[in-house]
Amino acid sequence: MKADLLLTNARVRTLAGDAVAPAVAIWRDRIVALEDVPAHRTIDLGGAVVTPGFHDAHNHMAWYGLSLDEVDLRVPTLEALYDAVAARATTSPEGAWIIGAGYDENKLGAHPDRDVLDRVAPGRRVWLKHTSGHMCVANGALLADLGIADAPVDVPGGLVVVDAAGRPTGLLQEQAQQLLNRLVLPYPVDALVDAIERAGRVYLSQGITSVVEAGVGGGWIGKSPVEVAAYQRARDLGRLPVRVELMVASDVLHPVTAHASDGIDIGLDLGIRTGLGDDRLRIGPVKIFSDGSLIGHTCSMTEDFADTPGERGYLQDDAGALRARILDAHRSGWRVAAHAIGDAAIDLVLDAVEEAQRRCPRPDVRHRIEHFGVSRPDQVARAAALGVVPVPQGRFVGEIGDGMLRALGPERAGWAYRYRSLLDAGITPPGSSDRPVVEGAPLRGMHDMVNRLTDGGQPCGAEEAISGLEALTAYTLGSAYASHAERDRGTIEVGKYADLAVLSDDPATVGPTAIRDIEVLSTVLAGQVVWER
Ligand SMILES: [Zn+2]
Repeated sequence: MKADLLLTNARVRTLAGDAVAPAVAIWRDRIVALEDVPAHRTIDLGGAVVTPGFHDAHNHMAWYGLSLDEVDLRVPTLEALYDAVAARATTSPEGAWIIGAGYDENKLGAHPDRDVLDRVAPGRRVWLKHTSGHMCVANGALLADLGIADAPVDVPGGLVVVDAAGRPTGLLQEQAQQLLNRLVLPYPVDALVDAIERAGRVYLSQGITSVVEAGVGGGWIGKSPVEVAAYQRARDLGRLPVRVELMVASDVLHPVTAHASDGIDIGLDLGIRTGLGDDRLRIGPVKIFSDGSLIGHTCSMTEDFADTPGERGYLQDDAGALRARILDAHRSGWRVAAHAIGDAAIDLVLDAVEEAQRRCPRPDVRHRIEHFGVSRPDQVARAAALGVVPVPQGRFVGEIGDGMLRALGPERAGWAYRYRSLLDAGITPPGSSDRPVVEGAPLRGMHDMVNRLTDGGQPCGAEEAISGLEALTAYTLGSAYASHAERDRGTIEVGKYADLAVLSDDPATVGPTAIRDIEVLSTVLAGQVVWER
C-alpha cells in the first residue's frame, strides 16, 4: 500500500521528545510514517524544516477579517491618523461610516479628538477602535446619533469619558462601546463569511492550521447572534481555511429547562455545549469577561497602576455575578475561558474555579484564563494546582510592552504575560496572539516569547523568557492541549492529523534574534498542501 503524499529530504521537528525525522508520509488526512516510504506523490523539501501546523489559541477571526477592510490606524502620530481618516473620507459619501482600527494612545500621545475628526471628515460618521478592542472613539456625528453629543449616559461596566466641563470626549470604554455596536450589529452572515475566509487565508500563509476564536454571538465582541451560522456556512462552502474552535460569549447562555437531576442550569437551546462539532469546526468554551485591558488601565488590579496613582481599573460586572456565572457554567458542563488581565480579576476567577471544583468535581476540564496578564507568583502556583490553563500572548511583550511597563512599573514587569514561570510550575501553556489586538504571525509571537524585548527595545520581564523549542511547543502542542486536542494534533507522530508548517529554518535551533525572520514556505492541512509561497 502506498502513501498519498511523501514530504522528503526534510528536517522534521516532531516535538515528540527531541526526535528529528527525515520525512513525513501522509495517507488521507493522517501521518502514517516518519521515513521514506512509497507514495503516489513525493515532494523534495530540499532540507527545509517541518513543524506541526501552528495553533493560535486565542484570536478574533471575524473581527480581524473585517478589520482588513477598515482604515489602518497603526500609525506613528495623531497627524498621520487624521490624514488616514481624511483620505478615506474623500472616497466615502456624505453620511457614510468611516471605521478604523488599531490605534494606541500610548504611541500617539493622546486619543483622537472628536472635534478634529469632525473637521477632517465632515458629514461622515467616524468610529475608531483602540488596538486593545476595549475602547473606541466616536466623532461628533456619531455621538449625536447616540444622543450623547453634549452629555454622557451611565453604562454599567463601561464609561462614556467626559472632559472637565462634562462634555463627552468621544472616548467610549468597555461596555459603553455597546452603544455603537447596537447601531451596526448584526453583521450579515455573508459579510462574516467573507471576513472569516479573508482572515483564514492570511493564517494559512503564516503556517497556522488551527485557531480558537475568542468569543462569538454576543457581548461587545460578537458580530451577530447567529455568528456560528457564518462559520458553518463558510465550512459548507469550502471557505473555512483553518480548523476553528468557537468560544461562545457568556451572555448568550441562558437558563434552560432540564430535569433537576441533570444539573444543567444555563446553556444554549437543546443543551448544546463545549465539545459539539468535529475536527474542523467545534463549539469551545464559554467566554466570560471579568475585566478590561492593561494598557487601557481598565483591568482590575489589587495595587495601583504605576503611572496613574489611585487607579486600579474595574471589573466588567459585579463580582458576585461573575462568580455565579463561572459556577453555573461549570456545573452545566461548559469549559470556562475567563478573560482576566489584572491580578484582582485573576483572584476572582481562581476563587470561582476552586469553589466550582469543590462543589462539582470535573477532573481534567481545563478551564482557561485568557491573558493571565499580570499574575502574582502565588497565582501561578494556584493555577497549576487547580489545573487551570493560562493563555498569555507572547507578542504583547513586543507590541504593547512599552505601555505595559509604564502601567506596571519595574517591580511588576516580570509578572506580565509570563511563560517561564508557567513552565516551571508544570503548566502546559498555549501560544496565542489575540489578533487583531496585535500582529498575529506565530513566528513573531515566538520571537517575543524568547527575546522578551519591547518594540521600543526595553527588556520586559527578561526572566520570563523561554527557549525557541519551548515557544514552538507552546504554539503547537500547548495550544492543542488547551483545546483537548493533543491526541490528534500538536506533534508530528504516526496517527495524528497531517497539519504541518514547512519553514526556512528551525525555531528550536536558529539564533533567538532570527526567529521572526524565518519564512513559512508552505502549509499542509489534513494532508493537503493548502498554501505555498
Ligand atoms: Zn481577545
